[in-house]
Amino acid sequence: MSVADEFAQADERYAATFTKGGLPMPPGRHVAVLTCMDARLDPARFLGLEEGDAHVIRNAGGRAADAIRSLVISQQLLGTREVVVVHHTDCGMLTFTDDQLHQKLHDDLGVHADLEFLPFSNLEQSVRDDVATLRDSPLLLKDAPVRGFIYDVKTGQLREVTSDE
Ligand code: ZN
Repeated sequence: MSVADEFAQADERYAATFTKGGLPMPPGRHVAVLTCMDARLDPARFLGLEEGDAHVIRNAGGRAADAIRSLVISQQLLGTREVVVVHHTDCGMLTFTDDQLHQKLHDDLGVHADLEFLPFSNLEQSVRDDVATLRDSPLLLKDAPVRGFIYDVKTGQLREVTSDE
């Protein structure tokens, strides 16, 4: 059985007791969360989110440059008015450089990728950079607060990264 089959079975159990079919499309708590795709992070649980509460935008590293499109839609069409960036300890983005991944793609697939993979070498700085990118983006609302945090995969704790740290 493939994992997709296991998912279909899990959903049968979920749908059997599902009662939230009447939720509106705009997030009830008017917030967008940008975080990493890391499998150890369960934002709904560590942030106390229920269905319908928030947009959770995930990509490798929780990088801002990769999320602008979704955040514009979130703010302009679906009414979110606050952004929370969550990067995390032991992130895979700390383990490689753009050059290394470009070389691997060249070696494994024979391609030259016209992509920046946005790895980082300093976790606090990556949060400050992404908060600044979102605060400075002309496409995003100037009056929507953007705050940045680091989630610790060892303890489950969230710590705010302030811009003057
Ligand atoms: Zn990560």
